[in-house]
Amino acid sequence: MTVGGVPGRPQRQSIREYVAATLRAALIAGDLVPGRVYSAPTLATQLGVSATPVREAMLDLVRDGMVDVAPNTGFRITALTAAELDHIAEIRLLLEVPIMGEIAAAVCSERDAQIEDLRPLVDSMIDAAQRQDLTAYLSIDTTFHTRFLALHGNDVLVTTVQRLRDRSRLDGLKSVAQAGNLVESTREHYAMIDAALSHDRPRMEQLMREHLAHVRTDWAAPAGTAHLAPLTLPTMKGTP
Ligand SMILES: [Zn+2]
Repeated sequence: MTVGGVPGRPQRQSIREYVAATLRAALIAGDLVPGRVYSAPTLATQLGVSATPVREAMLDLVRDGMVDVAPNTGFRITALTAAELDHIAEIRLLLEVPIMGEIAAAVCSERDAQIEDLRPLVDSMIDAAQRQDLTAYLSIDTTFHTRFLALHGNDVLVTTVQRLRDRSRLDGLKSVAQAGNLVESTREHYAMIDAALSHDRPRMEQLMREHLAHVRTDWAAPAGTAHLAPLTLPTMKGTP
């Protein structure tokens, strides 16, 4: 499967945070398939952790409506309709484009170091894109965008965008990565850093519109082909 193991886990991230971020990224990448049931012990084995943080993370996903408890077997992944995915993408555009523009316009020199700190995350994303490790890729992508948005100083916004991102489904990302085209769009993140450092609001807004457009175009599954990819996580019976 493509879900990364513990050796790739950043040292400062707790196991619980790592498991939560990995499972959320696996949901977005389509590695956890809608309608299928997964057991906590099986997922735990694949992640190289104990079942407890996996159960905690899955129960958080149940609370967020992304997973249902399947009695005596595990957790069933909730399916989202194309209309729901369109609505989520629309809200993200309304939030992220103006706020990122605002961050670029308002950034002061004391913030430059914090923005530069985001650059190694893009290096790691390019590395993950080249390895076609989409779960790692999406986990780092979420870190990049939430840290960037946090510069605006509105925690509610960051949490809201995080939840909306968790509800994205990028089933087309695998074929984009396999075709070698993911590295190119990943470079858009460097351009966002440069736009912020040069206080260029219009450029940042344009970059964000283009970046978010991937979510419902080339990164989404072509019509009728969703969830036909081979399973990368097994379906298992067990206790949730
Ligand atoms: Zn991104």
